[in-house]
Amino acid sequence: MKVTDHIKASKETLFSFEILPPLKGKSIQSIYDGIDPLMEFNPKFVNVTYHREEYVYKERENGLLEKISIRKRPGTVGICAAIMNKYDVDAVPHLICGGFSREETENALIDLQFLGIDNVLALRGDSIKTESNFRPHKDGHQFAEDLIKQIGEMNGGSYLMDDITLEPTNFCIGTAGYPEKHFEAMNLHTDLHYLKAKVDAGAEYVVTQMFFDNEKYFAFVKACRKIGITVPIIPGLKPIKSMNHISFLPKFFHIDYPEALSKELLKCKNNKEVEIVGREWGIHQSKELKAAGVPCIHYYTMSNSSSVKAIAKEIF
Ligand code: FAD
Repeated sequence: MKVTDHIKASKETLFSFEILPPLKGKSIQSIYDGIDPLMEFNPKFVNVTYHREEYVYKERENGLLEKISIRKRPGTVGICAAIMNKYDVDAVPHLICGGFSREETENALIDLQFLGIDNVLALRGDSIKTESNFRPHKDGHQFAEDLIKQIGEMNGGSYLMDDITLEPTNFCIGTAGYPEKHFEAMNLHTDLHYLKAKVDAGAEYVVTQMFFDNEKYFAFVKACRKIGITVPIIPGLKPIKSMNHISFLPKFFHIDYPEALSKELLKCKNNKEVEIVGREWGIHQSKELKAAGVPCIHYYTMSNSSSVKAIAKEIF
């Protein structure tokens, strides 16, 4: 079932969460171990992130360095199929532009369709760690908008090979939005302009980047509505869990902590104390968002579901 149909069918705020594929070498059980504790809260869909290749340099016998491409985590297609097979829940694979040609994108979507997966979150993806700017595949897409258009064309029955008749796909397409603006955008105004372009191209709902200040989410929704973005905007929340998160999350995700939260975090002396503050803040944010009638609250587990479970217990 499509994410948008789940939203339409419910009068209550839905619960959903995102997981990461396990590091290569770990079994599918590590995925189930992250999902099992959260199933009692009746998630309607589970997102699975996509992680593109990284480059490392290996020294050859002659002393020269060889650039090698490595994938640390497997792709999403098999994991989504396994989740849908084991649990009565929809899986939403993340599909990115980076590293994919148009043909590879089409093939991935055909695989998803065969498996009965009819949701996809369409993203550009970040640049490779060793590159300063995002560089698309030479036959791929520069922006998420272009990827959304390709999926939309397949939904309309138009594939890359235009000389044969193929069945239309039926994907529900989600896209990413940034209440604190995407870090590359010139300003929130241009970022919203491109978000609208993604929705006009076929995105049926938006999932936000994590934020810690609900006012920023409410302002973002208001600004979206003002320029004619009418689709559901699902807030994404991340419970802070460790001392490392205190600086890592703002640095990596380009978000700010509100002063009330940073004051509490400054008092913490160890991971346990940070985890308690993170949970309390997550409960506070979730309560307020639910009271405001948001369609769904989407939690980023980042491979650790214990804080999400503690929050969900209070909210759902
Ligand atoms: P886009 O919408 O393409 O935007 C990228 C930048 O270009 C923005 O600054 C935008 O303002 C600008 N822009 C957009 N369209 C145009 C245009 N037509 N012309 C000029 N400028 C334009 N990354 C992963 O690698 N794997 C994941 O699984 C993953 N999951 C995510 C899930 C969510 C909910 C979110 C919020 C992010 C996720 N990301 C993931 C991170 C995401 O890939 C990065 O934030 C990436 O840098 C931007 O992706 P996007 O889809 O928002 O890009």
